[in-house]
Amino acid sequence: MLIVMKPGAGSAEVEAVLEKIRSMGLTPHAIPGAQRVAIGITGNKGGLEPGPFEVLSGVADVLRVSQPFKLVSREVKPEDTVIDVGGVPLGGKAIAVMAGPCSVESRSQILEAAHAVKAAGARFLRGGAFKPRTSPYEFQGLGLEGLKLLAEAREATGLKVVTEVMDADDLPACLEHADVLQVGARNMQNYPLLKKLGAAGKPVLLKRGPSATIKEWLMAAEYLVAHGNYQVALCERGIRTFETATRNTLDLNAVPVLKALTHLPVVVDPSHGIGLRAHVAAMARAGVAAGADALIVEVHPCPEKALSDGQQSLTPPEFAELMKQVRVIAGAVGRTVQ
Ligand code: PEP
Ligand code: MN
Repeated sequence: MLIVMKPGAGSAEVEAVLEKIRSMGLTPHAIPGAQRVAIGITGNKGGLEPGPFEVLSGVADVLRVSQPFKLVSREVKPEDTVIDVGGVPLGGKAIAVMAGPCSVESRSQILEAAHAVKAAGARFLRGGAFKPRTSPYEFQGLGLEGLKLLAEAREATGLKVVTEVMDADDLPACLEHADVLQVGARNMQNYPLLKKLGAAGKPVLLKRGPSATIKEWLMAAEYLVAHGNYQVALCERGIRTFETATRNTLDLNAVPVLKALTHLPVVVDPSHGIGLRAHVAAMARAGVAAGADALIVEVHPCPEKALSDGQQSLTPPEFAELMKQVRVIAGAVGRTVQ
């Protein structure tokens, strides 16, 4: 259920509606919009009657939300969400670019990568400190040391740091050192982790599970928002199909479909999406053409020596060239690049 307040409704009227909802044992979610405040209601087992809300002062309309995902839906919030990452927007007209190595490997590697992606125009530095590797014998990441190196790279460049949190035990350290917390594809439906990230209130980059439907993905995002965190971006990173010529199948269908269903920013990861360095740029361009709000791209100073995902990492010159192309495509679809 969604309660839409009249454009001029005052804070006392909004508070009275919130209180009414709480008094019924339900949870209100006030959603400030450009034109008016809307209040989502969750916690009800069956359908709610609109009557008790319609009579309250300042209420313009009481609507049923048809989608199973409520707070992330466009029905509840028609305007695009723009996440403010310490002064750098994620979402909105200007496309954000996140770039950096798959894993933080050393001080010199992350600093070199950070300076290179910044010089090419990225505003966010990506890098994994806790790595979800398919094999337990592969490099698992530098852990806390990696987080500290990312924070050092942020100090040196001003880039915002995006890193994956795999385990709730690592959340305090990730909150301390990072600006955006990535939930990896393998953890998309780790509901206890999502609940903790919902309560933590830092921006979250929620990657799509390799076999998750768009609806399951939006329901996972709903966990974050229902637990209080509206700063959520969705990242398409390729799904598992019968195709073996590429690492995954980047589902660009998801971009316009998500833009219609949800107000959350949509990020495209062409690196994991196709998994082949030679074709990453093509899919990054296609992602922007499809309407992505941001890109996340793996860039390594020396991909052949990378400890993870070197086969899909761009060199700094390749990334700089891609940024030029992305600016052209962005212009063609009425966007800019930050
Ligand atoms: C990554 O970003 O390096 C990563 C492991 O991504 P995903 O969770 O999409 O596989
Ligand atoms: Mn990777």
